[in-house]
Amino acid sequence: MADNMHYDAIVVGSGISGGWAAKELTERGLKVLMLERGRNIEHVADYVNASKESWDYPHRGTATVEMEENYPVLSRDYPLNEQTYGMWANEQENPYVEAKRFDWFRGYHVGGRSLMWGRQSYRLSDTDFSANEREGIATDWPIRYSDIAPWYDHVERFAGISGTSEGLDILPDGQFLPPIPLNIVEKDVAARLRKAFGGKRYLINARVANITESRPEQNRVACQYRNKCWLGCPYGAYFSTQAATLPAAMATGNLTMRPFSIVKEVLYDKDGKRARGVEIIDAETNETYEYTANVVFLNASSFNSTWLLMNSANDVWEGGLGSSSGELGHNVMDHHFRVGAEGRVEGYDDKYYYGRRPAGFYIPRFRNIDGEERPYTRGFGYQGSASRQGWRREVAELNIGADMKEALSKPGDWTIGMTAFGEMLPYHDNFIALDRGTTDKWGLPVLSISVDLHENERRMREDMKQDAVDILEASGVVDVKPTESDYAPGMGIHEMGTARMGRDPETSVLNGNNQVWDAPNVYVTDGACMTSASCVNPSLTYMALTARAADHAVKSLKNGDL
Ligand SMILES: Cc1cc2nc3c(=O)[nH]c(=O)nc-3n(C[C@H](O)[C@H](O)[C@H](O)COP(=O)(O)OP(=O)(O)OC[C@H]3O[C@@H](n4cnc5c(N)ncnc54)[C@H](O)[C@@H]3O)c2cc1C
Ligand code: SF4
Repeated sequence: MADNMHYDAIVVGSGISGGWAAKELTERGLKVLMLERGRNIEHVADYVNASKESWDYPHRGTATVEMEENYPVLSRDYPLNEQTYGMWANEQENPYVEAKRFDWFRGYHVGGRSLMWGRQSYRLSDTDFSANEREGIATDWPIRYSDIAPWYDHVERFAGISGTSEGLDILPDGQFLPPIPLNIVEKDVAARLRKAFGGKRYLINARVANITESRPEQNRVACQYRNKCWLGCPYGAYFSTQAATLPAAMATGNLTMRPFSIVKEVLYDKDGKRARGVEIIDAETNETYEYTANVVFLNASSFNSTWLLMNSANDVWEGGLGSSSGELGHNVMDHHFRVGAEGRVEGYDDKYYYGRRPAGFYIPRFRNIDGEERPYTRGFGYQGSASRQGWRREVAELNIGADMKEALSKPGDWTIGMTAFGEMLPYHDNFIALDRGTTDKWGLPVLSISVDLHENERRMREDMKQDAVDILEASGVVDVKPTESDYAPGMGIHEMGTARMGRDPETSVLNGNNQVWDAPNVYVTDGACMTSASCVNPSLTYMALTARAADHAVKSLKNGDL
C-alpha cells in the first residue's frame, strides 16, 4: 500500500506500457507510485489455470450461458471461456456505450492485457512513420524510425523477442533471440512463395515475445511450447508485466504499487500549467485519495488514458486536459482482420512436429510499396500457421465404431491458413467521448464509442482476401478457400489513437516526446499516442515509446525543465 502521498512519478496502469514506465523510471532513480484499478495477480502463484487441461474444468473450458449473460461483449468472440474467465474486466461494473458496435476487450488487474496478449511483436518502419505526411492524411508523426530504433533495440533486448533477421525495409529487423521454428510445410511454402512472386512476397517466422533461451538473471525459463500463454506462464517465458518489468522495477526498491486504485482525475495546477498529481477512488472502500508527483505517466490503455484526460481539468477546458486542439478522443484506429484463406497441403504424410508452438508465420506487407498504387492506401500483413489435423477433425464417413477410432488415432491432413491484419486510417469522425449520463459502479461517467470502417478499409479487404488465395495457390496449396467472417471495430484488440502525437499543438494532443502539450509533465505512452496504425501489432511500439519518454522525463527533471 502507498503510505506516502508524494512521489517523483506516478504511473497509471500496470499493463504492457505501465510496466515499462515503472521499470525505466525506477531504474533511473525515481521513487514511483504505480496505480492499478484492478486486483493484484501474483506471478506464478495466481496463475490458477496454467496447468489445467480442458477436462479439469466443470464445463470443459467452454463458455456457459451465465458467462455469456455477464459478458455480452466478450461473448461475441473467442476470448470468453472458462479458462480465462476472471481475466477480463467485469462488464456489469464497467459498462460503456456503443454509439456504434465496438468490441472492447479489457483486462483490469495488475499486468493488464500483458497476461493475455498474443505476443506478436513487430517494428513500425520509416514507411509507416512518414505515411501521413507523404499522403496528406491526418497529421504527421513528430518522429521518424531513426528516433525510435534505439528504443526498439532496448525493449527487445529486455523483453526477449524471438525471430529472424530478414533485411526488409518494410519490417525492420531487431534484437532477436533464435526463432520459434517454422515446420516443414511452412518452410516449403515459404520457398515456393518467394519463387512464385519473384522475391517480392515473403513468409517468415512470426516474431513473438516468447523467449527461446533461458534468462536466469530475470528468473525466466525458455518457452516449453505448451501454448497456454493466455493463462499466465509459470516459466515466465513470455513477456508480461509480472514476468519481466514488474520484478525489475521492484528490485530497485523504488516502486510502490497500489492495486484497487481507480485514477479518476489528473489534478491540474492552472497557474503552473502542469499536473500536480492524481485523485483516486479506492475500488474496494470507495474512499478517495490524492497523490502528488512531479511527473505523471498515463498508461491505462488507449481509451482509458484518454478517458482520464477527458475527466480532468474541465474547469479549464470543457473537453478535459489535452483537449485544446479538438483532437482528444478522435482518430480511433484498430486493425481490421478476419479475412484470409486456407487450404490443404499434400505430400507430407510422413512428416510431423513436436510440441504445441505458441507462434506460426508472418507475411509482411507487400502492397502499396515500391511505387505500387492499389485502389486504397496503406497495406496489410498475414499471420498464419500450418499444422496436421488431429483427433478433433471430423471423419464424416467413419463416424462410429472401431473404424473411426482407428482413423482418429492417426494424424489427419496438413492444412494451412492465414488471416490478414489491415491498417485502418486515422479518421476524425471515429471517436470516443464521455457519456456523463451513464455511470459505472463507482459513479464515474463512461465512454461512448463511435467507430466505423471507411471505404479505404473496405477496398483493402478485397485484396486481403484475394491475395491470400493467390499466395496459397501459387505456393502449391490445394483446395484453397477464401475465409471471411464479420469484423467489428475493436475485435483486433489493437485500439489506438485518441490522443495523437504531432508537431503542432493546434492539431495534436501530445508532442514528439509524448508530453501533453497542455501539461508537459503528463506523458501518455500507451496506444492513445499513435498517429497512425501501420498494419503490424502495436504493443512493441508502445514499449519503445514508453522507454524513450521515461528517459526524456528523467533527463528533463534533472535539467529542471519539468
Ligand atoms: C487476446 C489478446 C491478444 C493480443 N495480441 C496482441 C499481439 O499479438 N501483439 C500486440 O502487439 N498486441 C496484442 N494485444 C494487444 C495488447 O494486449 C495491448 O496493446 C497492450 O496490452 C496495451 O498495453 P497498455 O499498457 O496500453 O494497456 P493494458 O495492457 O490494457 O493495461 C492497462 C492497465 O491500466 C489499468 N487501468 C485502466 N484504467 C485505469 C484507471 N483509471 N486507473 C488505474 N488503472 C487503470 C487497467 O486495469 C490495466 O491493468 C492483444 C490483446 C489481447 C486481449
Ligand atoms: S508456450 Fe511457452 S510462453 Fe506460453 S505458457 Fe507455454 S512455456 Fe509459457
